[in-house]
Amino acid sequence: MNVAALKEKPDRAAWLKGGQVVCSVPPRKPPGNPVRLVLLGAPGVGKGTQAELLSDRLGCCHLSTGDVFRTAKSLSESERTPALNEALEHMRRGELVPDRTVLALVTERLRCLHCRSGFSLDGFPRTLAQAEALERLLKQEGLCLSAVLNYQLPLEEIIARLAGRRTCPICKAVYHTTALPPRRDDACDHCGVKLLRREDDRPESVRVRMAAYEESTRPLIDFYRQRDLLITVAAGGTPEETFHRTMEQIGGLP
Ligand code: AMP
Repeated sequence: MNVAALKEKPDRAAWLKGGQVVCSVPPRKPPGNPVRLVLLGAPGVGKGTQAELLSDRLGCCHLSTGDVFRTAKSLSESERTPALNEALEHMRRGELVPDRTVLALVTERLRCLHCRSGFSLDGFPRTLAQAEALERLLKQEGLCLSAVLNYQLPLEEIIARLAGRRTCPICKAVYHTTALPPRRDDACDHCGVKLLRREDDRPESVRVRMAAYEESTRPLIDFYRQRDLLITVAAGGTPEETFHRTMEQIGGLP
């Protein structure tokens, strides 16, 4: 394991594990105001990769609900609550986890919304009920969103991206076999462990996830447009090109 590289990367332990756990490598404090973002877009559009790049550049912590569920997968059966087991079963099939489970998980991690580095929420909210709940939570905590980034990509490209996607089981970094290969074989650049293909990137789960996106998540575009928070970003080309477009769009954020 590459310990030096691990040290550089914030470990997001407070978010991934919840409870009283603190981040051993907290995200660095940004020079200006912290940005608080929601990343929207279909599965496979590259939200996770953009969240990592935003974290490197702006310091904002990558808060992915999918990563919390994937972390919970490595717990033993006895350590998991029935709600968590149920959530993992939904996830395996590519279905959305029930709102109450997701909201309980986010509410347990409220302190991450106060992170001094700001945050980019990736994969949450995913339904109108979740978006309304987030709005209430942020109001209650005296916080507001800087922007909502809506990443867009044609369906054929999304399918190709999902087929080549690989993730690190330790730090959750996302790679792609051709577009974003790791430096060494099949191993994570940060942790050195073997990269894995996500169970829900299999074709049968991908179909279910795309349908869930169309039905439940797409309506959030209008929800945030009405609140004047929506910024649309074309997600084609390399991750760096998309990131460049992202920075151009959010460069003027307060
Ligand atoms: P992601 O990594 O964001 O693609 O999430 C992987 C899977 O976790 C999804 O397909 C869902 O099964 C579950 N999941 C993650 N976030 C949410 C959410 N906000 N609402 C419902 N299900 C979620």
